[in-house]
Amino acid sequence: MKPYRGRFAPSPTGPLHFGSLVAAVASYCEARVHGGTWLVRMEDLDVARAQPGAADAILRTLERLGFAWEGEVMVQSRRTAAYAGALARLQALGRVFPCACSRKEVADSSLNFDGERVYPGTCRNGIAPGRAARALRLRVDHDEVGFDDGVQGPVRHELARVSGDFVLRRADGLFAYQLAVVVDDAAQGITEVVRGADLLGSTSRQMLLQRLLGFATPGYAHVPVALNDAGEKLSKQTLAKAVSPGRDADQLVHALQFLGQPAPDGLRQGTPADIWTWALAHWNLADVPRRKGGQAPAGFL
Ligand code: GLU
Repeated sequence: MKPYRGRFAPSPTGPLHFGSLVAAVASYCEARVHGGTWLVRMEDLDVARAQPGAADAILRTLERLGFAWEGEVMVQSRRTAAYAGALARLQALGRVFPCACSRKEVADSSLNFDGERVYPGTCRNGIAPGRAARALRLRVDHDEVGFDDGVQGPVRHELARVSGDFVLRRADGLFAYQLAVVVDDAAQGITEVVRGADLLGSTSRQMLLQRLLGFATPGYAHVPVALNDAGEKLSKQTLAKAVSPGRDADQLVHALQFLGQPAPDGLRQGTPADIWTWALAHWNLADVPRRKGGQAPAGFL
């Protein structure tokens, strides 16, 4: 068996909040209890959404909370050559086609289980005359992917129903998340991906890309995401509160409890070091609730 290598891959669209802390804690505990390595990657590919200073702020918060990562932080915005290389390999396989559709034009196509649009295949046999190519898509045939998720259990996805032909390079010229994450997980030698269940539907696209690019497929575990009262995932858009100094222990204990770990409330009076000692002695992935979301504690919205 390969030595365990896990990762945390935040998008620096704002400071670390309770939702991202939950993903960090889960991936960190899993890596550490397996005697593995934990890496951090900044997913700042979408330069328009990245917020100046957010990447540094996230790293400083992780440090303050006592997370220890190995090596340099990988930064997606510096890796376009690697993504271009992978795209060229997929093109050589004949699986890539240009697409002229605007977002509006696919706006009435069917929705998958996560409410994402399934591409109806409009341009897969060629672009209509007079139209210009905007994005590049991967052709999805009768591709099926199955895996045993470490938290959610057995998953089987028919890609034609989950995404249809999906974007590899966007209309604005940026490489798509699905391609970048696969190239980066392979480059970082990641053996286990532990992340939020909002990305469960992306996993089949990523596994298909791994197959086509000849990369090993990591194991996956999708933990519940933290939701606000309206059932929305905490994010910059929901104005999620930043993880704040002075509440470090409280936040870590709540994150462990959110993940189904019976961390004693008394630990909130301790230091992050005390909490990690408890967490690494008691962490059990099997205790993480098998659901896609859960209510975040009131003080952390
Ligand atoms: N950057 C993504 C996010 O913050 C996570 C990607 C991943 O873990 O694969 O939602």
